Amino acid sequence: GYMKSDARIYVAGHRGLVGSAIVRELTRLGYTNLVTRTHAELDLLESEAVSAFFAAEKPDFVVLAAAKVGGILANNTYPADFIRDNLDIQNNIIEASYTNGVDRLLFLGSSCIYPKMAPQPMPESCLLTGPLEPTNRPYALAKIAGIEMCWSYNRQYGTKYLAAMPTNLYGPGDNFDLNNSHVLPALIRKTAVAKATGAKELVVWGTGTPKRELLYSDDLAQAVVFLMNLDEGTYGTLLSETEPPLINIGTGEDVTIRELAETVGRVIGFEGELVFDTTKPDGTPRKLMDVTKLNGLGWKYSVGLEDGIRRTWDLVKDSLV
Ligand code: GDP
Repeated sequence: GYMKSDARIYVAGHRGLVGSAIVRELTRLGYTNLVTRTHAELDLLESEAVSAFFAAEKPDFVVLAAAKVGGILANNTYPADFIRDNLDIQNNIIEASYTNGVDRLLFLGSSCIYPKMAPQPMPESCLLTGPLEPTNRPYALAKIAGIEMCWSYNRQYGTKYLAAMPTNLYGPGDNFDLNNSHVLPALIRKTAVAKATGAKELVVWGTGTPKRELLYSDDLAQAVVFLMNLDEGTYGTLLSETEPPLINIGTGEDVTIRELAETVGRVIGFEGELVFDTTKPDGTPRKLMDVTKLNGLGWKYSVGLEDGIRRTWDLVKDSLV
């Protein structure tokens, strides 16, 4: 691959769901020079601390997987934190990467950057073609600004920054706190508790009809390393003057929230009823990624949904109830 095994690779956000999977994948592939900092060691909101860190460590490659993230409720409750913290983190890292001569930087976002009423599946070209889903607009706008930052730096400074937008992710290391988690970890936790307590019912938020696409974190990590290791010519095709340097990462397949809850029930062995709490928001009706571009480069996901839920459950079950 393009990244040599002794390349200095900074993974920002290495304790999160995404960053931890990327560190595992890089380690598995034999990369020996990974650079990481915990939140306590380096506050990514502090621009001076970030530039001092870059000047001292001089990474060759950066994976920007640090972000303030959360589910539908957290996004609704702390909108100011979501836009401010995400803008600060990405501005600090992108600027420090430029001033310290980072070769490739991969900026991670999410599928909520696309318009609420985007065509399904959503191609990269539907960015900024319509209004966003209001429940996570502050987060989404910060991520859109990050894509624009990468593109602008590429044009003005000749950098080679790429923005990869993953679909909804899950896996071990996810946030299982019911107040601010995403739907799958929430369902895993609720179902585990329901089973352990012998409950007859499981409460699912919303109508159960929205559809979501889910990708296992190890698959995402593979895709990220695959992109960063593309040969120069192929990587160059992703960096154009006329289109943002943007690529979707997903499976290209989705399920309803009801089907998702049923699958979790099957894996955990919960046999009660699903009850839908329609006082909770549904969010966007559907957000399926068009992964034609990524598939065209030769990458496809490998862990199916039920298999991924089973792997996650095996790794977290002792710590949940
Ligand atoms: P979104 O994908 O940004 O909309 O965020 P979420 O992952 O939080 O929610 C996705 C969908 O799952 C929404 O329709 C929620 O109403 C639904 N959902 C059902 N049960 C839950 C739950 O216990 N927690 C969360 N976060 N969402 C749930």
